[in-house]
Amino acid sequence: MSSENFMVNGSCLCEAVKLKMNLPEKVLNACHCGMCRKWTSGPLFTVESGESAHVEGRESISTYNSSEWAERSFCKNCGTHLFYHLKNTNLYFYSAGLFKETADFKFKAQIYIDAKPACYEFSNKTETMTEAEVMAKFAPN
Ligand SMILES: [Zn+2]
Ligand SMILES: [Zn+2]
Repeated sequence: MSSENFMVNGSCLCEAVKLKMNLPEKVLNACHCGMCRKWTSGPLFTVESGESAHVEGRESISTYNSSEWAERSFCKNCGTHLFYHLKNTNLYFYSAGLFKETADFKFKAQIYIDAKPACYEFSNKTETMTEAEVMAKFAPN
């Protein structure tokens, strides 16, 4: 693991919300779970950060309590998806599309691979995790 942090700057479509943060790695991941696909109409590409971002326009952020363990935040002006937060942790999964810097990141992993519908498939070679593997890694005891 490199300790060299990488700074990204991003915003929602209407630019009411601006986010800036350090990322530990130049990688992005995709989630194929049913909730992400309903939220975005496709797999949700994210970058992971163990710290909350520096945010401008916090008053424009709305948060949906999507499960016992997680919440999903979006811009209430334009609807852009901002991040998925595992409650009671510092783990945030920010929408990769907010940041232009993510265009050349490495596509590292696909999670909830067993929830992916048959109608699409990435040709990228990535790590994969099933729902059971994700739950074993992140679920609270
Ligand atoms: Zn917005
Ligand atoms: Zn998901």
